[in-house]
Amino acid sequence: MSKKWIRPQIQELAAYHVSEPGNAVKLDAMENPYTWDEAVTDALLKVLRKVPLNRYPHPSPPVLKQLLRETMQVPQDMRIILGNGSDEIIQMLALAVGGENRSLLAPEPGFVMYRMLSLASGLNYVGVPLRAPDFALDLPAMLAAIEQYQPALVFIAYPNNPTGNLFKREEVEEIIRAAPGAVVVDEAYCAFAGDSFMPMLGQYDNLLVMRTVSKIGLAGLRLGMLAGPAAWLDELDKVRLPYNINSLTQACAEFALRRYDMLSAQTAKIRADRSRLFEALQKLPDVLKVWPSEANFLLLRVTDAPQVFARLKQNGVLIKSLHGSHPLLEHCLRVTVGTAEENRLLLEAFA
Ligand SMILES: *Cc1c(COP(=O)(O)O)cnc(C)c1O
Repeated sequence: MSKKWIRPQIQELAAYHVSEPGNAVKLDAMENPYTWDEAVTDALLKVLRKVPLNRYPHPSPPVLKQLLRETMQVPQDMRIILGNGSDEIIQMLALAVGGENRSLLAPEPGFVMYRMLSLASGLNYVGVPLRAPDFALDLPAMLAAIEQYQPALVFIAYPNNPTGNLFKREEVEEIIRAAPGAVVVDEAYCAFAGDSFMPMLGQYDNLLVMRTVSKIGLAGLRLGMLAGPAAWLDELDKVRLPYNINSLTQACAEFALRRYDMLSAQTAKIRADRSRLFEALQKLPDVLKVWPSEANFLLLRVTDAPQVFARLKQNGVLIKSLHGSHPLLEHCLRVTVGTAEENRLLLEAFA
């Protein structure tokens, strides 16, 4: 009976797959590998004792929003809206513009949720291939697709996942100027990159900037943020579920953002270890190419991706195989930068 009622687009989708890590060294999901000192955890537990779980959470938590504004340097006159992860914000955007004959456009290979959530909400999804071998934007192709499809939404991950590069800033700006709808610059990896569109908010009516705390060490909380002009965000707020950020997430995020220096020290370590891992991976015999990265992961091409993936798994290291996911990613693997010890285990398992 489900065949009759579930929309055909949904029946064609494959569920988002997450591997079971077991005891493996987990380098597949761009998590921050560092935990907190005991004293910090104890201080958090004291705060959590007082969270009133019998009450609904604050629908639009002012202290947390202010802390996010400060740490993420949101321009004063911009609105912000919170999501249960930035995934939920993508879903809100898709729902708000949704309907037939509406398109969402993104470069490919890119973040898979753009496509999944487009299709789930009934939007037409348009993927525009990046250029080989450096995964730069194909600007003429992007502009032609924008002209042809008049997308309600364009998503640009900056840096891009899974390729790790920052697109040329001037080219992103050209896309913002050409797009008839909103351009969402997804800065999930901002902490690891040297550039951001946040300061540019307000210069273009259709520019929105998305951030998340997932990649800076708080993936378990599920908290993302969208910043932009009121004209877009006030409308978007109408499709947000009223209590989408739970009380425990609010309390933990406030606690952690007050200790932003601790998170920054961790991301600085990850950036330094990224350079070391980049050098070391390049020296391995199975590795054909490692792409430079502005994120907390590295994309590499190996001689035989399924074989290398299986060998690493056997040796207790879980990474992501992208082989078969897009023609430009043949025999490609993505590894998250872990602790120095985890990176050592990765290199050892490789050998
Ligand atoms: C990981 C990732 C996200 C998802 O972030 P959540 O806040 O954990 O939902 C969004 N965009 C890109 C490009 C990502 O890689």
